Amino acid sequence: MAEPLYLDHNATTPLRPVAQRAIADAFAATGNPSSVHGFGRAQRRLIEDAREAVAALAGASAESVVFTSGGTEANTLALLGAGCRRVLVSAVEHDSVLAATEGAVTIPVDGNGVVEVPALEALLAEAHTPALVSVMLANNETGVIQPVAAVAEAAHRFGALVHCDAVQCAGKLAFAIDDLGVDMLSLSAHKLGGPQGTGALIVRAGTEISPVIRGGGQERGLRAGTEAVALIAGFGAAAAEADETGSAWAEIETYRDRIEAHVANAAPDARIFGRGAPRLANTSCLAMPGVANEVQVMAFDLTGIAISAGAACSSGTVGPSHVLAAMGVPEAGAGSAIRVSLGWTTCADDADRFAAAWTSLYERLAPRAPDRTRAA
Ligand code: PMP
Repeated sequence: MAEPLYLDHNATTPLRPVAQRAIADAFAATGNPSSVHGFGRAQRRLIEDAREAVAALAGASAESVVFTSGGTEANTLALLGAGCRRVLVSAVEHDSVLAATEGAVTIPVDGNGVVEVPALEALLAEAHTPALVSVMLANNETGVIQPVAAVAEAAHRFGALVHCDAVQCAGKLAFAIDDLGVDMLSLSAHKLGGPQGTGALIVRAGTEISPVIRGGGQERGLRAGTEAVALIAGFGAAAAEADETGSAWAEIETYRDRIEAHVANAAPDARIFGRGAPRLANTSCLAMPGVANEVQVMAFDLTGIAISAGAACSSGTVGPSHVLAAMGVPEAGAGSAIRVSLGWTTCADDADRFAAAWTSLYERLAPRAPDRTRAA
C-alpha cells in the first residue's frame, strides 16, 4: 500500500518536533509549579513562557490566559463559568458548546453556514435578562469563518457577554482578541501542533467568571489542579512556531483550491459546502453524490488516505451533521459529505494524490447519471 497520507488535520494535527522536544525536556524535570523551591520555580517558568506564547497567538495579554485540559474544557468553563441564565449559541457550534448550553436559544445560519447577525439582534431584543452569546470563529466541518466582530458588537450593544470558540483558527488565521471584541476565547493545543489534553481560555480583563473545577488556587483561581506542565510547555512551543509560520497557509489554500477545482471539473454534480463564504485555508467539505460518507471514508482509508465524515470527533461513528442540517442541506447531501483538512505537513503532491483518488472513487462508486450511462 502507498505511504499513509493524513488529511484530517481538523481532528488533530501532528505534533510539531519543537513541541515534542519541549514536552520531553519538561517530563525529564521534576517539581510542582506551585512549590516555592528551585524545582517548582523552574516548572513555573515553563508555564509562564508558554502563557506568553499562547497569548501572543491571540493578541492577548499573558495574564488573560487560563490553561485548561483542552478546547472542550475551555468552552465549558466559559459557558458555565459566566453564570448567565439566557444563553444564545449559533446552530453550527461544536458539540462541546452545545452540550454545555442545553436549552440555549439557537442563532440561525444562512445556506453557507454564516451566522445571521440581524436574527441575533432580534433574539437579543426579545428579553432584557443578562445574556451570553457564543459564536465560533471558524467551523470544524466546513471551515466557514463567522463575522465574530459584528456578532460581538451587536451582543455588547444589548449588554451581553461574548464567547468565541477559536479552536480551529489558532495558528491557521491571524486574529487578535481585541479586534474580534469578544470577552472570552477558547483555544486547543492539538489543533496547532501541540499535544492533546491541553488548551486555554482567554478571559479579557474585567470579565468575571467562576471556576468550574474548584480546589487549589491555580490559574488565578479559575482552574484548580496541578498544571500539566509538560503539555503546557508543548502547547507554548507549538504556539510560537505556528505564530511564526502563519504565512504558510496561503500556500496551503492553493492546494485546497486545486482539490476543489479538480473535483468540480471531474464531477459537476459534486457539492462543496460553505464555498460561498470566507473559509479557513485548509478545509473542504465535499459531497460525492450518491455515495455514503462512511463508504468514502473506508474507501479512502484503503488507499492509505485519512479523511473524515463530518466532525467524527468523539465516538468514531458517523451521525447526521447538525452543521450541514442547519445550513439547509438535505439529509441525502449531508450523508455523502466528507471533510478534507490539510495542515502544516501537507505538500502539493498530497493534494494531487487526494484529487486523483477522489476521481477514481467517484468513477467506481458514484451511481451513474442517466446521460453518463448512455454514453458508457
Ligand atoms: N471546538 C472545536 C471547533 C473543535 O473542533 C474541537 C475539537 N474537535 C473542540 C472545540 C474541542 O477541543 P478538544 O479536542 O481540545 O477538547
